Amino acid sequence: MSSWESNVRRVEPYVPGEQPKDKNIIKLNTNENPYPPSPKAAEVMKAFETDRMKLYPDPDSTVLVDALAERYGVKPSQVFVGVGSDDVLSMAFMTFFNSDKPVLFPDITYSFYDVWAEVYRIPYKQIPLDENLHINPSDYKTENGGIIFPNPNAPTGVLESVEMIEEIVKANPQSVVIIDEAYIDFGGESCLPLVEKYENLLVVQTFSKSRSMAGMRIGFAIGNEKLIKFMNDVKFSVNSYTMNPVTQLCGAQSVKDEEYFRKTVNMIIDTREKTKKRLSALGFTFPDSMSNFIFASHKTKPAGEIFEELKKRKIFVRYWNKPRINNSLRITVGTPEEMDCLIKALEEITT
Ligand code: PMP
Repeated sequence: MSSWESNVRRVEPYVPGEQPKDKNIIKLNTNENPYPPSPKAAEVMKAFETDRMKLYPDPDSTVLVDALAERYGVKPSQVFVGVGSDDVLSMAFMTFFNSDKPVLFPDITYSFYDVWAEVYRIPYKQIPLDENLHINPSDYKTENGGIIFPNPNAPTGVLESVEMIEEIVKANPQSVVIIDEAYIDFGGESCLPLVEKYENLLVVQTFSKSRSMAGMRIGFAIGNEKLIKFMNDVKFSVNSYTMNPVTQLCGAQSVKDEEYFRKTVNMIIDTREKTKKRLSALGFTFPDSMSNFIFASHKTKPAGEIFEELKKRKIFVRYWNKPRINNSLRITVGTPEEMDCLIKALEEITT
């Protein structure tokens, strides 16, 4: 090994879902929204004065922060925005998880959490979900350096109650509790109102799922002013100009288009509920999902085989060959037409 190599920060990187170049596929593998973003966001994009490219963007992303503050009924000083919620979560790990005690999160959860913990050298402990894939709040009443989990969880889709989350936040005044609500808009109850009551709660959401803007990279956190100030201090110590001006404007317009947001979210919820019934009829079981995906196992056919067979038919879903989840497929809810193709393919594969 060359001498400089011993000083390299070595990490096992997060593996994102495949983004195939072939446009001719049914893409149900990364929980994107099948519908286009708000037409109001698209209009802003078209009207953007390209001369503005020569200037740095607003480092505070004021238009977007203000639009989010209004939509969620908080002060702008309670909102932090970042380049996708991955950026927001990564900043939050760096800002709040600086203890010698372990950060706690479930064993089956978003697979980026352990990667951030490793890259930032944060001790962590993965706590097994119960047999119904739920969180047991008493597991989170031990000494810790922070707590994070998604609600609904990923990749299971299982929703926890706001009461249970409050119990955990209340029991841990010594640490920051981060609730990653990437999928909350698909039928769950947000714990956002709790940020007024608990200064150690940070709620993170994204425009990538319910707002059809995964490619624009917008995520945000809402919490107590003090938490947000600490996050901004870290952000401005790493890179102040994170979000480009087109994204800031498109994001703000999307937030203001409540009607379109509700309409598209409801279409996905409707398709999800119909897909649940059709999958059950084919012999699949799954925890009840409140997200825009279903985490399904077949009663006889192994998930790995179904995954390969679907791929041959140009239908991409997500599969992890990992303990406890290696017999399940995470299937994103697409359009009704995409679900028809999926169900037809699954009929062929499983019967
Ligand atoms: N949290 C969870 C639970 C997710 O599944 C994802 C999507 N990969 C993210 C956060 C990050 O999404 P984004 O960076 O696109 O906002």
